[in-house]
Amino acid sequence: MFEKILVANRGEIAVRVIRACKELNIKTVAVYSEADANSMHAQMADEAICIGKAPSNESYLKIERIISAAEIADVDAIHPGYGFLSENAHFSDVCESCNIRFIGPNSRAMNALEDKAISRDLAKKAGVPTPPGSDGLVPDEQVALTTAKRIGYPVMIKAIAGGGGRGMRVAHNDISLIKGYHTARAEAEKAFGNSGVYIEKYIESPHHIEFQILGDSRGNIIHLGERDCSVQRRNQKIVEETPSPLIENKFKNLRKTMGRAAVKIAETANYTNAGTVEFIVDEKGNFYFLEVNKRIQVEHPITEEVTGIDLVKQQIMIAMGEPLKLSQSDIVIKGHAIECRINAEDPFGDFRPSPGRIEMYYAPGGRGVRVDSHAYAGYTIPPHYDSMIGKLVTMGKDRREAMNLMSRALGEYMITGIKTTIPFQQAILQDPNFRRGVYSTNFVEQLLTGARRELIEDKA
Ligand code: ADP
Ligand code: ADP
Ligand code: MG
Repeated sequence: MFEKILVANRGEIAVRVIRACKELNIKTVAVYSEADANSMHAQMADEAICIGKAPSNESYLKIERIISAAEIADVDAIHPGYGFLSENAHFSDVCESCNIRFIGPNSRAMNALEDKAISRDLAKKAGVPTPPGSDGLVPDEQVALTTAKRIGYPVMIKAIAGGGGRGMRVAHNDISLIKGYHTARAEAEKAFGNSGVYIEKYIESPHHIEFQILGDSRGNIIHLGERDCSVQRRNQKIVEETPSPLIENKFKNLRKTMGRAAVKIAETANYTNAGTVEFIVDEKGNFYFLEVNKRIQVEHPITEEVTGIDLVKQQIMIAMGEPLKLSQSDIVIKGHAIECRINAEDPFGDFRPSPGRIEMYYAPGGRGVRVDSHAYAGYTIPPHYDSMIGKLVTMGKDRREAMNLMSRALGEYMITGIKTTIPFQQAILQDPNFRRGVYSTNFVEQLLTGARRELIEDKA
């Protein structure tokens, strides 16, 4: 059994991991940057160690500092959370060579899924459809042009190291392709230190549907159902739910087919620990592999709510070498869960980050409501990191109940002093198409266009 775990992250996910450790009676060590001295995760852990200045590349991304902290505190394992170093194969190697268990996939799986282009090849090998596209990296404009000619416009230029919706551009013709090729490369270099891009057919009005995977070190792999994450702004999720209304209402057999495909990909990669296989699904029910997220995901709580399985505890048990105590037939989905990512952003000002001091804070509660957050009254949100300050999750016996709970809980959530996405999520929960469960990844753009039109009409 692990006695002590270091959490190499911040914010709500650090709090989430510390909570799981406490319930398992495992001591915790938080690391924090100078900007996070008053942060909840540093206060909640048994020990807290400052690892550097505010910018992530001087703290949360500094491998040597994190390893030194782990050695000083004498921990058995490191949980990387999501983002930062969670999918960094070099970091997991360094952990293992220092005799510290990395709570995540083994290095074989890390390498088999190293970037999105390699993962695409692996999916093909596993017999799972991928969007038509380039064979691996696109090294120059010429290859970009011939690829686009072969697969037809529109196409998407995507960073092989991408994440969080960054480093991708849609192109509808040769001119926008050349422009997008260079901007995507520049953005990827800046965000990920890797300018490699590939090209994929742009699937119109798609649905983002992903499957939660768990695999142990003995080769047992299961999936825990899907999550529909089609409500996105700038290719980044803001509302997620499970089960997917598209699968429930239109393509019931997809759950089995896509679940099997997800497990097949994980098996082909010799995957261990928790992961997510992401797909896009078109209007006709064709599905295509997108990527594997080799870590715990932001939206994992909705799966926990409908399966009754604590995914972070599963991650810890798997990292300790325990076999999975669950088989595929043990996974029973009960009820319906929805998550809203509460971001410190101005939803009516182009989702610009809105860091600053939270004056008043009251989190909703009551039956069927879960809040995962590091926020509190008097907390100052630093401008250096992701703008997400919490996740509001509701769980009902069916979709209608989960939506009614969410509307009620969003109305109760009081955060003053900064702008948040809450009013926008309230509008989403009121939208007739969302209520009917009819939406694709274009949904947010359509809702905003509608809101802008109303505003203009009001003024006229
Ligand atoms: P999820 O599906 O888990 O929500 P996201 O892509 O939205 O995945 O990313 C979750 C978090 O991790 C976000 O805070 C995002 O900024 C961060 N993130 C994702 N990928 C990367 C990456 N390659 N490098 C740095 N941060 C990343
Ligand atoms: P990230 O690593 O940033 O999460 P993904 O490859 O998972 O990148 O894509 C993020 C989102 O971008 C998807 O959920 C989807 O909305 C959109 N997207 C990605 N690839 C395509 C595609 N080929 N066609 C249409 N939309 C896409
Ligand atoms: Mg993704």
